[in-house]
Amino acid sequence: MNITQVASATHEEVYRVEDAACGLIGFIAIHSTVLGPAAGGLRMRPYAREEAALTDALRLSEGMTYKNAAAGLRLGGGKAVIIGDPATLKTPALLHAFGRAVEACEGRYWTAEDMGMSPADMAELAKVTRFVAGLSDGDFASGDPSPITARGIFNAVRRVALHQFGDADLTGRIVSVQGLGNVGWNLCELLTEAGAKLIVTDIDAARVTAATETFAAQAVGLDDIYAVQADIFAPCAIGGILNEDTISQLKVKAVAGGANNQLAKPSDADLLAQRGILYAPDFVANGGGIINVATEVLQIEGRVEWVAKKLVALDDTMEAILSEAEKQGVSPAAVAQDVVAKTIKARAA
Ligand code: NAD
Repeated sequence: MNITQVASATHEEVYRVEDAACGLIGFIAIHSTVLGPAAGGLRMRPYAREEAALTDALRLSEGMTYKNAAAGLRLGGGKAVIIGDPATLKTPALLHAFGRAVEACEGRYWTAEDMGMSPADMAELAKVTRFVAGLSDGDFASGDPSPITARGIFNAVRRVALHQFGDADLTGRIVSVQGLGNVGWNLCELLTEAGAKLIVTDIDAARVTAATETFAAQAVGLDDIYAVQADIFAPCAIGGILNEDTISQLKVKAVAGGANNQLAKPSDADLLAQRGILYAPDFVANGGGIINVATEVLQIEGRVEWVAKKLVALDDTMEAILSEAEKQGVSPAAVAQDVVAKTIKARAA
């Protein structure tokens, strides 16, 4: 396994990791350790090019710095990616090689699940590195973070409903959900329990069929999810899906979902605001998962109560951001950036 440092003007440390024997090529990006050890999940995707994987790691790790700050955690921002289809390339040998690279960072980066990874994969990593969370077994094991992530997003959906419709009650509200994976599926469960009606899409047809059967959801095509008539759109798949093209199609009053980096570029937040669509900043809405992971990294006693308290605080932060944005007449994304920048600056001082 070879680790080479990649020069970066924006990140504290970036590494390219390669192990030809098992087909591993990946990156570890440590954006900031100002608030604590950098923490953020490991993603495995069949990126078309290495540059795309590196760009994803850089963007996602920066997002983790903001997410951890917004969630009030003593953690910095980091993220890792592996290039390849998890269904075919992911082997214990590949995970071990990558785990050795995580170990080589000596605790400045902690990894956990992200797209393409499971608690079982984290257990493989744990055979070679101490700096892995999201485990199912062990003293501080926190397990799959997705249900907590979904709970935080559900709270955000209720918040935007309160602001846009004057009532957080979701009974009869129509929510369009993009992506029915770990997060999207758990969110659909909570929304259904709360009386919302669902419109769903996913590239995995079996998941769509399951959602129509389980939640009586209406299924639409992959590109049709943007133009459906709904109250709230919950993106829970990939990033970059809020752009000039899709925002102009939206017929919703708010966007609140779990996907990381939903805005293709920062100015897309203004496009949403101009159209009167309230945007719950993704790195605040989806902070539940890292709150759960933090109990393992920071070895928190009384995990369940601690997580519940942090989720309430996250919800309060979202409310403060949405209210301030309304007051100032700016996008919630701009306010959220300001809030976390101040938190990081105060801690750095
Ligand atoms: P996942 O891999 O379990 O699910 C993603 C789902 O999206 C899959 O069902 C996949 O088929 C579908 N999908 C992919 N591309 C799509 C497209 N173009 N259109 C429609 N569906 C598509 O991942 P997850 O853990 O549910 O995470 C979802 C998103 O939430 C990701 O952006 C992830 O980074 C973010 N997130 C996850 C967590 C967590 O706790 N798992 C925490 C914070 C943020």
